[in-house]
This record gives sequence, C-alpha cells and structure tokens, in this order.
Amino acid sequence: MKKHVVLYKKLSAQLMERLQAQFQVTLIERLDAQGLRQLRDALPSAHALLGASIKLDPSLLDLAPNLEAIASVSVGVDNYDIDYLTQRRILLTNTPNVLTETTADTGFALILATARRVVELANLVRAGGWQQSIGPRHFGSDVHGKTLGIVGMGRIGEALAQRGHFGFGMPVLYHSHSPKPAVEQRFNARYCDLDTLLQQADFICLTLPLTAETEGLINARAFAQMRPESIFINIARGKVVDETALIEALRSGQIRGAGLDVFEREPLDADSPLLQMDNVVATPHIGSATHETREAMARCAVENLLAALAGERPKNLVNAGGWKG
Ligand code: NAP
Repeated sequence: MKKHVVLYKKLSAQLMERLQAQFQVTLIERLDAQGLRQLRDALPSAHALLGASIKLDPSLLDLAPNLEAIASVSVGVDNYDIDYLTQRRILLTNTPNVLTETTADTGFALILATARRVVELANLVRAGGWQQSIGPRHFGSDVHGKTLGIVGMGRIGEALAQRGHFGFGMPVLYHSHSPKPAVEQRFNARYCDLDTLLQQADFICLTLPLTAETEGLINARAFAQMRPESIFINIARGKVVDETALIEALRSGQIRGAGLDVFEREPLDADSPLLQMDNVVATPHIGSATHETREAMARCAVENLLAALAGERPKNLVNAGGWKG
C-alpha cells in the first residue's frame, strides 16, 4: 500500500506529480478552520507532512502514530517541538540556503524603506500631499556609510553583511554565539557583545532563530540601549522581540523607526499601534516570498521528504537524533 503524504502547502504541478507518482497525497489548500479539521482527519493515516506556518504541537501529532517525517518549507523550526519529534523518531527537515539571499534582500528593502521613509512619502504623493518641494520635515537618514549591526551572524546575517559592506560601504558590527573569523575578514566586520551592538549600530537587524534562549531577547532594557537615531529591523521572528516594548520605544522617540517583517502574532492585527506609526514599515512575513525562492524551497522540502520516506538520511535533517540509520 502506498504511503500517505499530507501537504498543507500547495505545490507546483511538477512537484505534485513527483509525489503522486509514489504516494497517496492529500492536499489541504487553506489552513482555515475547515483546513485544520481536514488535517486532524488526515493525521491518523499520515506517514509524512509537508508545509509551514502552523504550530504542530505534540497534542496534534499524537494523532499521527505512523508519522515518519515532517518536511518544513522554512528554515526556521520554531513551530516544532524538536525533543518530542526526536523521541518519536520523526525526522524533521527544513529548507536552509535556498532562501538566504532573498531574505537578505527583504532585510535591505526594509533598511532602505525605513531610513528613506519610502512608504510614508509614497503615500503622501498618492494622497495628493506633494504640493511643493519637500523640506527637512520629510528628510530621511543616510544608509551608506552608517553602521550595520547584525544580531545572529548565520547564513542570512552574512548575506546582509555582504550587501552592507560591498554595496553601501557600511561598517559591520555583529553579535552571535561565537565570533566568525571568515566573516570578519571578508566584510571587515567586528564581533561585539549585544549591548555594545545596540549602543553603537545605526541599523540593528535581527537574523537569529526563535529559541527558548532568544524569546523576548529584545526587550525594554535592550531598546533603552539604542539611540534616537537607531533604526530597528526584524526579519527573524516576532517573538524574539517584546512588541509592547518596541511600540513604547517608537512612541517615546527612543528609536527613530522600525522595519518589521515578522510579529508576535501573525497576521498582525489591523488595529496594532504599529500600523498607526509613520516611522514603521510593516510587511506581511515576506522574507522569502518570491516566485523563484518559494519554488526552490518547495523543491528542497520535497527532496527531503522523498529521501526520508526512502529510508535515506535527508540532506537538511534538523534532528539528527531522530535518525535511526
Ligand atoms: P542560521 O544560519 O542558523 O543563523 C542563525 C545565527 O543566529 C547563527 O549564526 C547563530 O550563532 C545565531 N544565534 C542563535 N542564537 C543566538 C543567540 N542566542 N544569540 C546570538 N546569536 C544567536 O540561520 P539563517 O538561515 O540565517 O536564518 C535565521 C533565522 O531567520 C531563521 O531561524 C528564521 O527564523 C528567520 N527567517 C525569517 C524569514 C522571514 O520570512 N522573515 C525567512 C528566513 C529565515 P552561532 O552561529 O554563533 O551559533
């Protein structure tokens, strides 16, 4: 009997055909209330899951006694209880590398849009508010030559450093678990502790994962270290930041602005105070959202899933402890 694969993300026809050639495939098109019911119904016979953007709690996965693998279409794995999956020997895979450059592009789009007030001033033009040559009230801040602070010097952090150093002549400060000598050499980057980075960087960019250690890392104390000229950029995960403290820092002028792709709760509430602020550029979690990159991520996830169900070690295995091989 064919193994049962449950998708909660739509795939291109070509990828769908690859899966259907080998497996019984159930596609859940939307993760609304009905989609979640469909998922619960499919779990008892599922051998593998593929998708992203929902929390797969142990209480849900307990419904899937035959589950062998989860292929997440994301690099972040904060939606999974890795210890639980490892204990059950369920392989978890992700999609690193293929989204790195695109996510760094999103980071730079937010840096430029926030510093140069692109959204605010484009809206002013659209609303007929451009009546004369604009003056200092609408000036932005330079990006080139300013200090780029990167919190989490991994793949995406490095791609951001590359853009800042080579494209915009920015001195790069970074903070990570450990120093990265190769990065320092390539981008003339300087390692420092988090407080020093918060105090000295003009752009403070988060590119680290959401973990028990990083949840709420950027709190009121962290915002208090920043300067009134600082611009805060989050392309990591919303919960790394205490959003109430961020709102207060923006309101009080403790920082100049924020470019945010991720939020504590997504989708962001339409009545969030963040959406009332001209100095905030908010995007709907679009870090990797280009046609090319989303297809590459889906392909990567399918390949991980095919390997896992063939009894091979998937290339992007997250929980090595779950591997029986
Ligand atoms: P990565 O290569 O694993 O890099 C993460 C870096 O964060 C590592 O270098 C790590 O430092 C550092 N780090 C981890 N915990 C830390 C801590 N407590 N303090 C300081 N540094 C810490 O991951 P990546 O591929 O660059 O992705 C990073 C994150 O971006 C993902 O986990 C995901 O949540 C987010 N993301 C968001 C989007 C989006 O759509 N907005 C898209 C893609 C990814 P060490 O190397 O020293 O351990």
